Amino acid sequence: MAKRVDIAVKKQSIPAHLRYTVEDFNREFPTDDACLEHIKEERFPGGIAKCAKCDVERRHYRVTGRTAYACDHCGNHIYPLAGTVFEKTTTSLRLWFYAMYLMGSTRCGISAKQIQRETGVTYKTAWRMFRQIRSLLGEDLQLEGPTVEMDETYMGGVRKYGVGRPMRGDKKKTPVVGIVERKGRAIARTSEGVDSKALLGMVREHVLPESMIYTDEMKSYGGIEQIRRKDGKGKAGYQHRRINHSAKVYVVGDIHTNSVEGFWSLIKRGIGGVYHSVSQKYLQSYLDEYSFRYNRRDQGNLVFKSILEKVAQRAV
Ligand SMILES: [Zn+2]
Repeated sequence: MAKRVDIAVKKQSIPAHLRYTVEDFNREFPTDDACLEHIKEERFPGGIAKCAKCDVERRHYRVTGRTAYACDHCGNHIYPLAGTVFEKTTTSLRLWFYAMYLMGSTRCGISAKQIQRETGVTYKTAWRMFRQIRSLLGEDLQLEGPTVEMDETYMGGVRKYGVGRPMRGDKKKTPVVGIVERKGRAIARTSEGVDSKALLGMVREHVLPESMIYTDEMKSYGGIEQIRRKDGKGKAGYQHRRINHSAKVYVVGDIHTNSVEGFWSLIKRGIGGVYHSVSQKYLQSYLDEYSFRYNRRDQGNLVFKSILEKVAQRAV
């Protein structure tokens, strides 16, 4: 299944300015040094950084054979990888970059098995790399509407007896709540439950006041229009329309939740087809991965560059 989807994506022919092929990757990042240089430039453009010893901004030059750059005045070292996900890695930087490239170039997800096959790293290493990369992809978005769709679903859990209705012995699935701007961005969060406290809290946190919100008929969505502003000054002014799914009414004019359902099916196809199953512990990071790509679906292969930017942005 994974393969077929990838071929379909290639056929869609990405516009030239959004194309970033493996050849482009190899040209831009031929060596570990090139990758290190890239991170250094992101964090310390031109090698300019405050030297701890000189106590002023100084230019730094690469120290051969090490991941360090030395102050041009006193020789004190700075380490561009410090505080990044690469800090303690023994895996080659180029391989990390390639893993990010793969993650940014797929639509349906990329398995640790695949990078293991392509590069020869152990499965454990590949799995760890992807987990670390995913940890960079969570975003705290404020959705703007004017119209958003909201829905809840259940995901993850290991199915002991395969597909179909959950059976005894199956691990519990986790509630997931999603909100999607029509033709826009999406967020998805694992949730303790789907009671109104959880759902309305998420609206308040992530949707701009005055937006129109479409949901299904579940009771917990009642009260959306009563949500108060974050600053407590009056109502947030959300408007709410429901679709009566149980009466098989899925689309009434503009009132539907097709966008959020499309988003779910993308994630479920991916998690089911590529990752097979995802434990509760890691589910949010997979949701982050899919949302990150979904929110950049008009960027072609350049999603890779967005992932790469996060390395420096998230450095601590
Ligand atoms: Zn110095």
